[in-house]
Amino acid sequence: MESPLTCLKGVGPALAQKLEKLGLFHVEDLLFLLPLRYEDRTQLVKIGALVAGSRCLVTGEVLLSETVYRGRRNLLVRISDGSGQLTLRFFHFSRQQQAQFHVGTSVTCFGEVRRGSAGFEMIHPEYRILRENQDASTNESLTPIYPATEGVQQGRLRNLTDQALGFMQENPPVELLPASVTNKLGMPSLAEAIRYLHRPPPDANVKQMLQGRHPCQQRLAFEELLAHYLSLRRLRALAETEEAPALTNGDSEVGRFISDLPFELTGAQKRVIDEILSDLAEPHPMMRLIQGDVGSGKTVVAAIACLKAIACGVQAAIMAPTEILAEQHWRNFSEWFRPLGIEPAWLSGSQRAAARRESLQSIADGRAKLVVGTHALFQEGVEFESLGLVIIDEQHRFGVHQRMALRDKGVSARGHPHQLVMTATPIPRTLAMAAYADLDTSVIDELPPGRQPVSTIAVPDTRRGEIVERVRSACASGQQAYWVCPLIEESEVLDYQAAEASYQVLTESLPDLRVGLVHGRMRPAEKERGMRAFKEGLIQLLVATTVIEVGVDVPNASLMIIENAERMGLSQLHQLRGRVGRGAAQSHCVLLYKPPLGRIAKERLAVLRDTNDGFIVAQRDLELRGPGELLGTRQTGLPDYRIANLVRDADLMPQVQITAEAMRTASDKNAAAIVRRWLGDTRKYGKV
Ligand code: ADP
Ligand code: MG
Repeated sequence: MESPLTCLKGVGPALAQKLEKLGLFHVEDLLFLLPLRYEDRTQLVKIGALVAGSRCLVTGEVLLSETVYRGRRNLLVRISDGSGQLTLRFFHFSRQQQAQFHVGTSVTCFGEVRRGSAGFEMIHPEYRILRENQDASTNESLTPIYPATEGVQQGRLRNLTDQALGFMQENPPVELLPASVTNKLGMPSLAEAIRYLHRPPPDANVKQMLQGRHPCQQRLAFEELLAHYLSLRRLRALAETEEAPALTNGDSEVGRFISDLPFELTGAQKRVIDEILSDLAEPHPMMRLIQGDVGSGKTVVAAIACLKAIACGVQAAIMAPTEILAEQHWRNFSEWFRPLGIEPAWLSGSQRAAARRESLQSIADGRAKLVVGTHALFQEGVEFESLGLVIIDEQHRFGVHQRMALRDKGVSARGHPHQLVMTATPIPRTLAMAAYADLDTSVIDELPPGRQPVSTIAVPDTRRGEIVERVRSACASGQQAYWVCPLIEESEVLDYQAAEASYQVLTESLPDLRVGLVHGRMRPAEKERGMRAFKEGLIQLLVATTVIEVGVDVPNASLMIIENAERMGLSQLHQLRGRVGRGAAQSHCVLLYKPPLGRIAKERLAVLRDTNDGFIVAQRDLELRGPGELLGTRQTGLPDYRIANLVRDADLMPQVQITAEAMRTASDKNAAAIVRRWLGDTRKYGKV
């Protein structure tokens, strides 16, 4: 049944090797190499009807062609079809190309529509010059685009999948879903779905296909989600058979710690602590996720878990995704634990060699009971004496693989360490179900008393003057404020320049205030100085890039201005806003935006104005994402899917869960086959 790729025409050993790198070993694998997306070249779109972000086929007559210098040479070609104008922009072009576009020439092009400085434009579109009286030709059906693969072109992939589809006629792939499920959901057969997705027929519902909601797409998405879910559940079952130190002592230490805290724990914190302590008392590794909105007090819960572990004679490690966040934990933990005679060790990538050696030594010989750090904690060369508990803060930035690596790293004579992951990005239940099926979940759904919701308004930046006045009067009355500068995607340098520029302007317009600046390019010590000065009240207005997202905790800060809020994600804005509203005073957040706002942007800002609940923000964030900005792996730590999209297909999850549990209870051997089909290398996820 499993035929090697070399039995296909045109596939020799060299190509087979390249394909292997893509995880393709057998002809059947090619069937599951599904198009990433489709291009619609079935119809011409009127230029006047173009929408930013879409990829379209247009045709028009050249009105103007010129080269301009914008840092580098640009070729700009303005075309029109009578309904509107569009600019084609080229950064790389030959003299000959340039000469093709004389005024009056007809051209047809395909590309992504973007908002440019003078209306819509396409950057480096695919194009064709039309001869006199030649019509722009359209395709009959949607064009499948396969995942970009180094050294194997789209044309080649189309040819290979063609052959695989032919091969499928004699050897249809095995149906692995229980018939009861496919019948119930009214799904097409596997072979039918595969054929449809690789070669959508001319009458395919284009809109449905482009949105990924066609029944054939859903059929495969269902199976893929099922594969991931099964594999995570399998991992979980594996953990239940593993040993971990049962942490049963230390009740009095924990009790004393809690009664010495300067505040009373909330009911939610107490409940979650109970859940954790009862997990830790088991002789199997805890695998628990804590979700809690910003400011819900996750850190103290983590500290109590650490204390429990230490009191039972094992080491605890807490890992954060950034240096700033790790530093903050280190400070908090030092304050809490020093009086108990526990000195936390520090480990980070930027540490000097000597300090690092000293940390490593104390971790290895067990003098360090508690270690705080970044990813550096789990790199080569870090050996724990007896690691009993691992805490990962801000889970969404770590993936399943990292979680696995961590688990294996911590194995000692006493077994696997217990694992606690904490996230401040609440994710909706259906998503959590899919992404964290190997974890139990606790939710801290209550804020400490006395917190007032942050009142939020959105204001166009044409009214910036008023806002600056507002900062002045807030600071004059003894409060402190943050001014957060635009996030410039992928560029720390630009980020920093933008912050620097705002800092200059604000210092000039607010000569009476003590203004400070903190950005991601500063050395940690400098950053620390700036933040400390703010914390101590020496600075009244702190201008910062989004580094403060996970940064300082300053209860006296009650006003936050966020510039270019329309460019930031909802969850990020919510996190930022969580820096204020930590004290007794009513706090305010001003979202400055550059008008005009699109419909989606408007709705997003309205969400923040209307709610302070992180779960609602997260849910709306998902709903309001455009098709182009669905969750990527980098952002979320969620696995990469071939066809499923957790956000779009969340509604399939309840049935996926029911199906998976039924298959597992029946110890269905198809479960293993499904995981193998979709995840291939099962070692990454635990053997199936
Ligand atoms: P997050 O969940 O965002 O990590 P933190 O753990 O940083 O929140 O807690 C935010 C602030 O609230 C800290 O200053 C912390 O000391 C304080 N805090 C935590 N729990 C309580 C409580 N039960 N009552 C009052 N303040 C609390
Ligand atoms: Mg926190």
